[in-house]
Amino acid sequence: MTANLLDFDLEGLAVFCDGLGEKRFRATQLFRWIHQRGMSNFDDMSDLAKSLREKLKVHTHVSALPVLSQQFSKDGTIKWLFDVGAGDAVETVFIPEDDRGTLCVSSQAGCAIGCRFCSTGHQGFSRNLSTAEIVSQLWFAEHFLRKHLNQTDRVISNVVMMGMGEPLQNYAALVPALTTMLDDHGYGLSRRRVTVSTSGVVPMITRLSQDCPVALAVSLHAPNNTLRDHLVPLNRKYPLDELLEECTRYLAKAPRDFITFEYCMLQGVNDQISHAHELVQLIQKHAAQGLRCKFNLIPFNPFKASGLLRSEDATVAKFASVLLAAGFVTTVRKTRGDDIDAACGQLAGDVKDRTGVVDRIAQQRAIPIRLLDASA
Ligand code: SAH
Ligand code: SF4
Repeated sequence: MTANLLDFDLEGLAVFCDGLGEKRFRATQLFRWIHQRGMSNFDDMSDLAKSLREKLKVHTHVSALPVLSQQFSKDGTIKWLFDVGAGDAVETVFIPEDDRGTLCVSSQAGCAIGCRFCSTGHQGFSRNLSTAEIVSQLWFAEHFLRKHLNQTDRVISNVVMMGMGEPLQNYAALVPALTTMLDDHGYGLSRRRVTVSTSGVVPMITRLSQDCPVALAVSLHAPNNTLRDHLVPLNRKYPLDELLEECTRYLAKAPRDFITFEYCMLQGVNDQISHAHELVQLIQKHAAQGLRCKFNLIPFNPFKASGLLRSEDATVAKFASVLLAAGFVTTVRKTRGDDIDAACGQLAGDVKDRTGVVDRIAQQRAIPIRLLDASA
């Protein structure tokens, strides 16, 4: 099998080219053709020596994931479904805004964490994506959009690892993908505009701060361990205080001076005023140790198997007002791409029924998390 060059960050490509007897600056030229110009045909890379092009044709290829479908929302959001083989598919979403273009990227086919309110979690885990499969989502989207919008400048300014999967459970593939996004010879994205979202894989947050500090979003969803254990099962392994202490440490290396806490608003489950006060207390305790954060309240995007409901707008507003009154910057996420099921947590992408999933959902549904004061 020949190597897919989308699998390499610049450093990796330099090592690979060295193996072909080529100098480092050749790797830089090649990297720029691929990522900045969107080229996959070596014959079009006019400043590469013919001998190198011939070697590349024999030993390598540049291949994006095959597109299964492409959907355009009336608000400008675009969703792609990519084939990752063996009946699996992943989704990528482009969200245009006035001052930025954000790409929401997937890191795994399915997810092993199994959050109660997440449609990807309900599918079970299939496999990790390779670096090439992660980078391919950006490569394809950026160069598609330039053609589609008839634009030569960069279209995508922000990447959020908020598609399918838990990025910090696919760390080895994630880091070279992030490095490629940040590289001036690649996509040249600012560290502040590349966000890793995690359900709280504490040891990997530590490693990310050392290897490739980017903006960090942490999916909190509950103000206490009892409730979070039910909503985000990983909490049993890395409970709240441990997670929040790690968030505080991350700030020392982070490109932004705050962590974003995501909080999915589930009617009658985690959206009561008492939860908001409890959350304020929890975060204030850690703020005293240096934690700085912003809250992003996400209205739950319902899907049938979850058995859960979206909080009323008025409930979300009241919850937000408690956080705001305590001095926390709080936003409520706008739902985009609703008409094409492109909103957070709706990314299903699967085209096969995975073994064991039905049992797992049955178990999850048996958890009585609708008790209003389970958290009190
Ligand atoms: N695994 C990572 C990143 C992918 S999920 C994580 O959990 O952070 C991206 C965001 O979507 C997370 O904050 C997640 O909690 C949220 N989400 C999942 N399902 C959702 C749903 N049905 N409605 C709204 N948000 C959801
Ligand atoms: Fe996985 Fe994130 Fe979904 Fe939880 S919310 S199941 S961690 S993708």
